[in-house]
Amino acid sequence: MTMTIGKNSVVEIHYTLKNDGGEVLDSSEGSEPLMYLHGTHGLIQGLENELQGKKIGDKFKAVIPPELAYGEIDPDLIHSIDKSMFRGVDKIEPGMTFTAEGEHGHQHITVKAVEGDKVIIDGNHEMAGQTLHFDVEVVSVRAATEEEIDHGHVHAHGDHHHH
Ligand code: ZN
Repeated sequence: MTMTIGKNSVVEIHYTLKNDGGEVLDSSEGSEPLMYLHGTHGLIQGLENELQGKKIGDKFKAVIPPELAYGEIDPDLIHSIDKSMFRGVDKIEPGMTFTAEGEHGHQHITVKAVEGDKVIIDGNHEMAGQTLHFDVEVVSVRAATEEEIDHGHVHAHGDHHHH
């Protein structure tokens, strides 16, 4: 019997991710496939939904709207701060990223613009607000071990790092 993807399947996929403009944002091509434990939010929700019930060798395209990917852009995460906040940084330019300690732990921040003494920063995920276009191939499917289910993550290639 061919195993299909469901709750607690350990799945490997090759994928290419493009935006609406057809620009490649991410791809597993040329490297190891992405391995994840199905049903534990290891992937964005929209892609898990599409993978449900698929089997080894299946190839498909999926178009995932923002609400099932990285969410809509939250304007509350866009702030104007004083340039003096960036102590020790020589040059602040749009596109720079850094990590800040926020109320929800580590937050990934992108510099959107520099206007005089003000810096516009954006704490939204870089793919927030974007419709994602995936090309996916299912490489392998197996049942998770009890230990993996217990931990909520995959133990790949005998690599038992515990956290
Ligand atoms: Zn573990």
